[in-house]
Amino acid sequence: MSIKAVAIDVGRDKGLAGYSLTQTFATDDGHMTLVEIAPPAFDVDIFIAYATDQNFTGKPVYGRPGCYLHPDAAECLGKAIDLARSMGLRFKVFDAFRPSEAQWVLWNHTPDPEFLADPRRGSPHSMGVAVDLTLIDSAGTELDMGTAFDAFTPRSHHGVLDISAEAQRNRAILLGLMTAAGWDFYRNEWWHYQLFSPRGRYEVLSDKVLAQPMMA
Ligand SMILES: [Zn+2]
Repeated sequence: MSIKAVAIDVGRDKGLAGYSLTQTFATDDGHMTLVEIAPPAFDVDIFIAYATDQNFTGKPVYGRPGCYLHPDAAECLGKAIDLARSMGLRFKVFDAFRPSEAQWVLWNHTPDPEFLADPRRGSPHSMGVAVDLTLIDSAGTELDMGTAFDAFTPRSHHGVLDISAEAQRNRAILLGLMTAAGWDFYRNEWWHYQLFSPRGRYEVLSDKVLAQPMMA
């Protein structure tokens, strides 16, 4: 299977109403292509935590900070970016496509189904249809969300009351922007968004689908 990851121009100057992805994504063997999430096509900050030692495993899982999504998810992220921009906000992305090999590394470190998808079920991240992200202001400073990204604690759940009013407000803005753009939320992680009902609709993908591997 050869799937190439490509950067595309998604025509962002058309505004939300005219937003469309006009590229065809089928490769010569009929498989879908992952879209590289990077400026200027996608106006986001990118800090791929699993390509650094700043993640719960304490060491890099990826060999490079690749950021890719399935075209369906890339389109929804583009909508969210446009909505956030209208409020003077941008996104900082911590993780997007996560090769199935990486999901096994994370699961073997912390096999907790509250915070990680069992690799045998398949993580929506490994389908390229989930993204971990927060909001940043015009100076690039992360908004207070009450916990850090990947804090495996009940305070990371949606709907908790033991975070500040400001963090509550910021989570609600993130939730509103993402759901309005077509994303489903995950009750245990304020930073995680995915397309609705991904299992069965999208296939779990290996690092091997990337022209340039991501795994360390
Ligand atoms: Zn996630």
